[in-house]
Amino acid sequence: MKHYFLIPILLVTLLLSCSKEDSAEANQELTGVTANQQPTGTSSNHLLSDAVFSSMVVELVYVEGFKPTQTAINNFVNFLEERTYKPNGITVVTRSIVSPGMSSYTTQDIIDLENANRTKYNTEDQIAVWAFFADGQSANNTANGVVLGTAYRNTSFVIYEETLHSYSDSAFEANRDVLETTVITHEFGHILGLTNLGAAMQTNHEDTEHPKHCNDEDCLMYWSAETGSGMENLIGVSTAPQLDSQCIADLQANGGK
Ligand SMILES: [Zn+2]
Ligand SMILES: [Zn+2]
Repeated sequence: MKHYFLIPILLVTLLLSCSKEDSAEANQELTGVTANQQPTGTSSNHLLSDAVFSSMVVELVYVEGFKPTQTAINNFVNFLEERTYKPNGITVVTRSIVSPGMSSYTTQDIIDLENANRTKYNTEDQIAVWAFFADGQSANNTANGVVLGTAYRNTSFVIYEETLHSYSDSAFEANRDVLETTVITHEFGHILGLTNLGAAMQTNHEDTEHPKHCNDEDCLMYWSAETGSGMENLIGVSTAPQLDSQCIADLQANGGK
């Protein structure tokens, strides 16, 4: 039987990239494979506005048995429609793959899987997003916390769906739809440039203790880390946290709604 006392949870992580960011952004290609292999946050404007891309496609790939709920997918699309200008539409294409047979994934493993399986890349009018739902845990899990998702490239994120299941499979735990919606939209918030990650802050609301996260504890982009309070706060809750007005202002200033 699974224990259900709370262990400290690291709700989400963000892979902070370094060094070549400036030159990569300056020379960023708009279309083709390399256009989708840039640092997290660098496609903020291209995702938010329709200046370059008038539509968006999300390639949602899951290991058999680890598909997110339709409610979570619908909530994700609603989140995108609420915040981005894509007059020619937002499409989600879902597909399963057989298990890669790994119980633990490093970020490099996740990148390798994306490279081997991704089929959608930016085209002239359409920006493409890769979302992968894994059947194993993150290799970055520690005794002090687990990783439920990571935004690791400008248009790519992974959800550690097996781990997420283990925190949402009983009445004493978070609702599955709510937990999936929370982690998916939080990761996508990073890809949209939050917080101080490509969408310039209009007010100073970055959490100094947890860089690239919002300091409003009710905001979707709040980092509810080591204490386990993040998971606790979702128990008995029927809707995922929303972006606060400061994060929305940052998105609006960079071309979003
Ligand atoms: Zn985060
Ligand atoms: Zn916020």
